[in-house]
Amino acid sequence: MSLDPKRTIAELKELRALTADENGAQRLAWTDTWLKAREWFASKLKHLPVEQHYDAAGNGWVTLQGDSDKALLLGGHLDSVPNGGWLDGALDEMAGLEVLRRFASEFNGRPPLTIRLVDWADEEGARFGRSLLGSSAFAGTHSIEADRKRTDKDGITLEAALRRCGVEIDRFPEAEREQKNAAAYLELHIEQGPVLENLDLPLGVVLGTKGVERHAITFHGQEAHSGSTPMKVRRDALAAAAKLALEIRSIAGKHPDAVCTMGSVKTLPGIVTAVVGRCETTLDQRDLDAAVLAGMHREAKDASERFAAEEKCSVEWSRIWNIEPIAFDPALIERCEQAILETAGKVHKLPSGPLHDAAEVSRAGIPTVMMFVQSLGGISHNKIEDTREEHLELAVHALDRLASKTVEWIQSTR
Ligand SMILES: [Zn+2]
Repeated sequence: MSLDPKRTIAELKELRALTADENGAQRLAWTDTWLKAREWFASKLKHLPVEQHYDAAGNGWVTLQGDSDKALLLGGHLDSVPNGGWLDGALDEMAGLEVLRRFASEFNGRPPLTIRLVDWADEEGARFGRSLLGSSAFAGTHSIEADRKRTDKDGITLEAALRRCGVEIDRFPEAEREQKNAAAYLELHIEQGPVLENLDLPLGVVLGTKGVERHAITFHGQEAHSGSTPMKVRRDALAAAAKLALEIRSIAGKHPDAVCTMGSVKTLPGIVTAVVGRCETTLDQRDLDAAVLAGMHREAKDASERFAAEEKCSVEWSRIWNIEPIAFDPALIERCEQAILETAGKVHKLPSGPLHDAAEVSRAGIPTVMMFVQSLGGISHNKIEDTREEHLELAVHALDRLASKTVEWIQSTR
């Protein structure tokens, strides 16, 4: 039985039928629908010579033991956002399963290296606002104390939701044991952006995940009556914030892949008859290059102070969250490029703006690379998320080639 990418597509449709409603996929982590998806996935393993278990963070592991304990890891996530698409995370997992099946049949159940397929728990963080939960436990970069008291919209704590699924948050560090013998990690994902489609390319090599600087920026001015306060003497906090919102476009524009977003603006007192006395905003900045990211952060800060002064206001910054850029492994990037060239004839290298579990695996020191397949319209986290079926088939073929190349690389160098 050789690789059958059409089966991957059929299985993705089966999963969609099982876990989506008229608004899209509903496989939120730690819910019954997610558990149902995992049960369905387990049913696909019945006739394979594999061992399956869940680690202390709820990540699902399928192991096809090889002659060597050294392991090639393939991964994805079966969880989705509410009203999500049919491919985000699930494609990675089902394509990984197809590659594992190919190894099992080609080597009569015993490949030269061990092949492991992981289903990361709660990649999306859609319910509790904490992304990459399971993979951070695996990598040892978890934040248990900050996370256990997080609540969903119904007031249920993350700790309680996990417990209901048999996962104790205090045991997260035990998931690090799964790192043992891991020699490389591969993940296929839909791009979730428009770059490959605009280039008319099916597949791309992901260079790494962009670093993120996320800040709350508050401008302080003076609340004043909108009728009696002359324009010249106003201290309008919104005016300063508005200048910054336009300026970040030119700050990002100096770098080819950088992005800056002011996603939230709140004005106080926020009434039609008052000059804005306080304006609370957020800024999210991303780039693959740490120096570029630091430079953009500094520039935005300088600009905010300049605009605050121009509007006779003051400004205050506080960091919400940040993560460093994570570059994938150069040797695996090269192999991924070859695998795509051999499959599709053309290739493009690009960074990922969204974070992925692969970033956490890379942080654990395991050589990692990701492959992107084109997303139609660049749309994801939406029920209209889609990719051409011929591109999905190419992606499974390319991942399979990359897996073989990676096995050879591990055997020759590690
Ligand atoms: Zn995903």
